Amino acid sequence: MKKLLKGGHVVDPRSGIDGPCDVLIEDGRIARIGRDIPVDGATIVEIPSGLVVCPGFIDMHVHLREPGQEHKETVATGTAAAAAGGFTAVACMPNTTPVNDNANVTTLILAKAAEANLARVYPIGAVSKGSKGELLADISELRQAGCVAISDDGHPVATALLMRRALEYAGMFDMPLIEHCEDPTLKGDGVAHEGFQASLLGLRGIPGAAEALGVERGVLLAELTGSHLHIAHMSARASIRAVRKGKEAGVRVTCEVAPHHFTLTDVALGSPIAYDTNTKMNPPLREAADRDAMIAGLVDGTVDAIATDHAPHHYDEKQVEFDRAPFGIVGLETAIPLTLDRLLHSGLLRLPRIVELLSTNPARILKVPGGALAEGDPADITILAPDLKVRVDARSFRSRSKNTPFDGWELRGGVAATIVGGRTVFTNADAGLQTI
Ligand SMILES: [Zn+2]
Repeated sequence: MKKLLKGGHVVDPRSGIDGPCDVLIEDGRIARIGRDIPVDGATIVEIPSGLVVCPGFIDMHVHLREPGQEHKETVATGTAAAAAGGFTAVACMPNTTPVNDNANVTTLILAKAAEANLARVYPIGAVSKGSKGELLADISELRQAGCVAISDDGHPVATALLMRRALEYAGMFDMPLIEHCEDPTLKGDGVAHEGFQASLLGLRGIPGAAEALGVERGVLLAELTGSHLHIAHMSARASIRAVRKGKEAGVRVTCEVAPHHFTLTDVALGSPIAYDTNTKMNPPLREAADRDAMIAGLVDGTVDAIATDHAPHHYDEKQVEFDRAPFGIVGLETAIPLTLDRLLHSGLLRLPRIVELLSTNPARILKVPGGALAEGDPADITILAPDLKVRVDARSFRSRSKNTPFDGWELRGGVAATIVGGRTVFTNADAGLQTI
């Protein structure tokens, strides 16, 4: 089976390609990249001008909710959402029920992913048993079962000592520890960013310092252990400052930002609909100076990855008072339009940097295949339609949950097709691409 993607604009930062190129796919792998590749019996797929062929995007922070919370999402619906959102792979957090703290759960997730056969799934194992922050999980067992990183996401690692041990243990396998940074004593029972908007709405606040304290602790422990720490979903300007300082000092620290944190501020909590629970997430939407600091980090290279923190919740769970609603929004099917609209078309980032944030760097951080269009690699490819007009329609999401603050938004830029291992798992009829 040979397929020739002909006439596309290829962007691959790792090989330095940013221009017209053909891509030949053979037996699920990239056989050749170059100008005017001879057809030689391959099925030709003409890429209309304006579309961009990239290495497959990897969302390194999603919650697939299976096992245990299948009313919110399953591995099948989550990977369908990933494919429709332009992601060829996702890494899923361990806060399922039961928690992914042993090989049985990891194996179950991988079996479900193989059955769904859409986007690739890389499980993340728990740092501690049950993510309870008491005993370390068997990280070597998790590694052998297929976990690519460890995290107690949803919460920070409970104590500095446990985190130190986890970093040392994960370091033996050169796996990153992904930290949900938060000082629980400072966060308290806060539900929104501490500031003008929270005061106006009468909501209990969470200061940016609650997150930055966690980042500072993590950077210090990464320095102490020499292990790789990855900071999840950064939102506060003091967090970026701490990461920048750590990087300058040579600490092995990387970090990610979610599209909602470079798009929205806490003003969204009051308008257009006040107390919309789809604006409630943890870390919370912060003030403009924090949002701008995230953008500055994306521009200057401090931020390594864009990750969605895709957090599906059932309609009923979000249809309650703001105080009582669970934190989180879905992100897989809005991430690319938001990124292209807010970062590319605003002139802040160029396409190679965007591909680096969504593909090259996540693959490097998790040490998984992909992240480049290299000959011999699995043909995981995302085709973008940067000028496509997209209207977000939550009802049409593949995800089982629809909890998004972006419903009805009109954005410029979308996904044309998603190819995993040479097989097309999603084609967008609006993007002018023939069925591939
Ligand atoms: Zn988290």
